[in-house]
Amino acid sequence: VFKRKLTFVAAAKVSRSLPSLGLPEIAFAGRSNVGKSSLINALTRQWGVVRTSDKPGMTQSVNFFTLGTRLCLVDLPGYGFAYAKEAAKEAWEDLVMEYVTSRNNLKRVCLLIDSKWGLKPRDEELIHLMENAQTKFQIVLTKTDILPPLDLARRATQIQEALKHHRNFVLPVVMVSSQTGGGLPHLRKTLVNLAVP
Ligand code: GDP
Repeated sequence: VFKRKLTFVAAAKVSRSLPSLGLPEIAFAGRSNVGKSSLINALTRQWGVVRTSDKPGMTQSVNFFTLGTRLCLVDLPGYGFAYAKEAAKEAWEDLVMEYVTSRNNLKRVCLLIDSKWGLKPRDEELIHLMENAQTKFQIVLTKTDILPPLDLARRATQIQEALKHHRNFVLPVVMVSSQTGGGLPHLRKTLVNLAVP
């Protein structure tokens, strides 16, 4: 399914413009700069379709990409700019909250965590939101090429421990590097069953 053509189909800046596409959706979330666009590109081996749009000052949107007629990948706006205005944070919350709580077709959120930094308060806020919405989520550790294997294993265990009581937390914690391609086959395997057969 990840070899199907990746096509940009819609961007929603406010919750009322979230499209209905009728395909199962997998959403990708995480702090700005966590490596989200790189991951979607590497996962599908299609570059140039997903671009980083999380520049400070730009209106953020939820972006929808279809993989043929089997799956929709959803790029959620990044968060965590220290200098983001309170109003921008509220707009982000409204949009993401509406998305994670209202999507019947949302099968899973991949929450991307930078292996170097681990879970941050804003990640925990999103986890809380997903818990309340009963949204299934899994953790994807990114940029694993920059950490020694032992530190990486420790990071994964730490996150697993921190989240093990959440009912909607789906194992395993997958470790990927978009740069080396490490872990990508494993991540595809954890997601492929969510697509239309
Ligand atoms: P986004 O803001 O979450 O979409 O992040 P990007 O995909 O634009 O990546 C942010 C920065 O991290 C860029 O400078 C990327 O080159 C870098 N990056 C992304 N993935 C990796 C990775 O697997 N390894 C390393 N070392 N750097 C990465």
